[in-house]
Amino acid sequence: MRRKLAAGNWKMNGTQVSLAELAAMQGMSKGNVEPLICPPATLIYAAAGLKTGVTIGAQDCHAGENGAHTGDLSAMMLADAGAAYVITGHSERRQDHGETDGDVLAKTEAAWAAGLKVILCIGESEAQREDGSTLEVLATQLKGSVPEGATGSNLVIAYEPIWAIGTGKVPTVQQITEVHRFLRTEIASRFGDDIAGAMRLLYGGSVKASNAAEIFAVEDVDGALVGGASLKATDFMPIVSALN
Ligand code: 13P
Repeated sequence: MRRKLAAGNWKMNGTQVSLAELAAMQGMSKGNVEPLICPPATLIYAAAGLKTGVTIGAQDCHAGENGAHTGDLSAMMLADAGAAYVITGHSERRQDHGETDGDVLAKTEAAWAAGLKVILCIGESEAQREDGSTLEVLATQLKGSVPEGATGSNLVIAYEPIWAIGTGKVPTVQQITEVHRFLRTEIASRFGDDIAGAMRLLYGGSVKASNAAEIFAVEDVDGALVGGASLKATDFMPIVSALN
């Protein structure tokens, strides 16, 4: 059975005082649900040191091991700071930093080499949703960004429609069902049924306590990647509970 994953992405939010929110999330790790928070890189070391039972992850890594890359962080550095996961391919990185599927693939391989698990994000734009190319776009992103060697334990796929991120707009249950079923089928055709059956598929985009239960009831949804509603313990904890 796939362990559910409730992942919070703090994005470019959070300073030392925000660690109090993480401390308040203590005790969330229970049963079949793994809670994860990806704070900004500046907080990873302190967050991991709190030992709250909430797994800590990073939001991005460089594809290289080390070297002359001012301002970048390697996967090994993030692991050394206490991260167990890293997000790759978030649409904000694809947009703000021009990251391609090839970049995402290289970062994912670098993360695995450092022992990190990866949450790899894919998702269509509003225009692509409207012109009916969603599944084609997702298939292309999967093909181009998921490396060989993916397994149910080293990779999580997050479906985040760009138009649902931070907008309060959420796809219908039918749309989420269609996409997640498609993703599992695509993974099965490339990696086999066992790996596809073990891999966790997250939904992300305007997940809140009020819509979490309905989204989590979808058969192929194994958790969520939550942005805004992961910043406060009082918002995030009910989402985690909805997975139990
Ligand atoms: P929101 O939950 O704020 O819509 O963000 C989703 C997201 O991008 C998580 O990675």
